[in-house]
Amino acid sequence: MSSVADQMARGRLNPERVPISYVDPAKRISSWEEYYQLYTKEEAIAEAQRCVRCAKPWCTLACPILQDARGYVIQISEGDFEGAVDTILKDNMLASCLGKVCYSYCEDACVVGKKGEPVAIRHLKWAALAYGDGEAQSYRRQEKREGSIAVIGAGPAGLAAAQHLAEHGCRVTVFEASHKLGGLVTQTIPTYRLSAETFEEDMKRMEPLGIEYRLGVNVGTDVTLEELRDGYSAVFVGIGTHKAGVLNLPGKDLPRVYIALDFLKRVMDGERPEVGKRVATIGGGDVAIDCSRTVLRMGCEESIVLYRRTREEMPAANEEIEDALSEGVDIRFLVSPLELQGEDCVEAVVCQQMELGEPDSSGRRRPVPIEGETTVVPVDALIVAIGQKADLETFPGLGLELARDGSLVADPETGRTKIEGIWAGGGPSIVHAHAAGTKAAKDIIGYLEAKQKVTTKVSRR
Ligand SMILES: Cc1cc2nc3c(=O)[nH]c(=O)nc-3n(C[C@H](O)[C@H](O)[C@H](O)COP(=O)(O)OP(=O)(O)OC[C@H]3O[C@@H](n4cnc5c(N)ncnc54)[C@H](O)[C@@H]3O)c2cc1C
Ligand code: SF4
Repeated sequence: MSSVADQMARGRLNPERVPISYVDPAKRISSWEEYYQLYTKEEAIAEAQRCVRCAKPWCTLACPILQDARGYVIQISEGDFEGAVDTILKDNMLASCLGKVCYSYCEDACVVGKKGEPVAIRHLKWAALAYGDGEAQSYRRQEKREGSIAVIGAGPAGLAAAQHLAEHGCRVTVFEASHKLGGLVTQTIPTYRLSAETFEEDMKRMEPLGIEYRLGVNVGTDVTLEELRDGYSAVFVGIGTHKAGVLNLPGKDLPRVYIALDFLKRVMDGERPEVGKRVATIGGGDVAIDCSRTVLRMGCEESIVLYRRTREEMPAANEEIEDALSEGVDIRFLVSPLELQGEDCVEAVVCQQMELGEPDSSGRRRPVPIEGETTVVPVDALIVAIGQKADLETFPGLGLELARDGSLVADPETGRTKIEGIWAGGGPSIVHAHAAGTKAAKDIIGYLEAKQKVTTKVSRR
C-alpha cells in the first residue's frame, strides 16, 4: 500500500470523482422521488479504483460503527460486488438507508480528499447493494438464548439494538409509539432524499430474526417504563429527540407558524399544510434545510432560510446546503427573528441584523445584535427549526436525565443509565444512533451472560 504523495508523484492518483448524476434541480423541485442516480457497474469500479488502499484505514476509523469502508471499496475496485455486500452487512443493518443519506464521516477522513475529491464511499455502498445483493441477503438468528429484551422506539438506535440482540438469539419486543418503523428516518426525512422503499430493503433483511414489533404503543401512557423493567431482562430506551425547541417570540401562536418536526411528519403522512407562496424557515441545521426544500415541492415560489450566523457556522451538511441553493432556496445569514406579525395568520418576520462576536462554548463565533438594524421579511408561512430534545415527560419517577444536547444521559460506550436494567442511546445522525444501539446491545448481552453465570453458580450450591 502506498501513500497519497507516492501515488500523486507517480501520476496515479486521480483527484477527480467519477461524476454522480442527479435530476436537474429545476425538474426535481416538482417531484418527491429520490434525485441522485446510481453509478453503473463500470462507473463504480472506476470510482473505487481511486482508493489508494491506505495502510491505516482512515475512512473506517472515522465511522461511528467502524464500517469496513476500505474493505468494501477495495472489493468493488476488483469487481467483487457480492463480497462488498457481505462486508457492508456485517457491521451495518441500515446499509440501504446509509448508502443514500449517511453524512459520510468516512469521506471527510478519506486521504484522497486531501488532494482532490474524496472517494465517493457512500455512493459506492449504494452501488454494491444494487449490484451485489441479487439474492437479497438476510440476518439469521443464532441459537436461542435466555433473555427477553424490551426496546422502546423503532428508530435507528432501537432497530440496531433489536437486530443485534435478536441475531444473538434473544427474544426482542420493540414498542413504538407511532404506526411505522424507522423513527425520524421514515417520519421526517423527505422522500426526495430517502424513499420508503429504500428503508424497506433494510427491514426485509431483518425479517427472519422474528423481532416482535408493537406499533402504536406509547411507553409512559399505554405501558409504563417500570412495568417493562419488571417484565423484561433488560430495557433499551431509544426514543430520539422529538420535543421541539420553543420560539419565545411575540406572534409565535399565529396560524401558519409551524414547528419543523410536526410539519415534516404531517407532510410525510400525506398532508399538505397551508404554506402559500412565500415561506421562511428559521434555523441553520439539516432540519431547516429539509423544510426549506420541502415547501418548494409543495408549490411555494420563494423559500427563505433565516440563520443567525454565517455559512461557515451552519450545522447543516454542506451537500444539503448546496443542493438547497441549487434548487433556489434563499439562505439569509446574520439575521435573528425578533417578532412575528400578522392579523389572521403570520404575515411578516421582523429580524434583528447580527454580526459575529467572540467564540462561545461551542467554539463557534457568537452572533451579536447590531443595535437599531432590523429588517422585515414578508411571509405567508413560517417554519421553526431550532432544535429538539428527548421527551421525558412520559417517563416520570425513574430518574432518567437529559444531557445538554437533548439526548438521554447514558454511558457513551455501553449505553448504561444509572438505573439498573435500563440502557439508552441515540444520536445526531443515523449512523451515530446505529452505533449507540449496537454498543448497548453488546453490553446487554454481557450483562445477561454475567447474570446467568451467577444464577448457575447459586443453583449449583
Ligand atoms: C428532518 C431530518 C432529516 C435528517 N436527515 C438525516 C440524514 O440525512 N442523515 C442522517 O444520518 N441523519 C439524519 N437525520 C437524523 C436522524 O434521523 C436521527 O439522528 C436518527 O433518526 C436518531 O435515531 P434514534 O433511534 O435515536 O431516534 P428516532 O429516529 O427519533 O427514533 C425514536 C423513536 O422512538 C419513538 N418513541 C418516542 N417516544 C416513545 C415512547 N414514549 N414510547 C414508544 N416509542 C417512542 C419515536 O416515535 C421514534 O420512532 C435527520 C433528522 C431529521 C429530523
Ligand atoms: S481513506 Fe479513502 S483512500 Fe484510504 S482506504 Fe479509505 S477510501 Fe481508500
